[in-house]
Amino acid sequence: MKILVATGHTQGTNPSDYHFCVERELVWIQEPCDRDLRDPEGPCGCGRGFAGAASHRATTTAMVVESEMTRDDVVLAFETSLADGGWPTSWAEDVADDNLEIAAQLPVGAIITRDVENFFLRGALFS
Ligand SMILES: [Zn+2]
Repeated sequence: MKILVATGHTQGTNPSDYHFCVERELVWIQEPCDRDLRDPEGPCGCGRGFAGAASHRATTTAMVVESEMTRDDVVLAFETSLADGGWPTSWAEDVADDNLEIAAQLPVGAIITRDVENFFLRGALFS
C-alpha cells in the first residue's frame, strides 16, 4: 500500500525548507505549537514540517511510496515511534491513518509540502 515518507527530493525549492529526517522513513503530522499556528512561515517551522517516525527529526518534504507494509505494520511502527518519543501510544492508529489517507489520495512519487492543515503538491519523482 502507499505510505508517506520523508524525502530530501526538491529540498531548497523554498528557502525555508529543512530536512533532518532519514530518507524514506515514515512521517507523521504533528500539531503545530502556538507560535506556528499564528505564523506558519515563522522561525519555529513545525507547522510546515513532517515528523520522522524513526529519527524523531523533521522535514518539510514528504513523498508517497509504494510499500510492503500493511496498515497494521504502519500502526505498530508508529506505536514504537510514539513510545520512543514520549508521546501517547494511543495516538498510533490516528497517526497511521492520517499518513495512509494522504498517501492514498496521491500517485506514487508525489512530493508534498505542508502548511499547518493544508498539503500542497510540489512535484513528483518517477522512477
Ligand atoms: Zn513550532
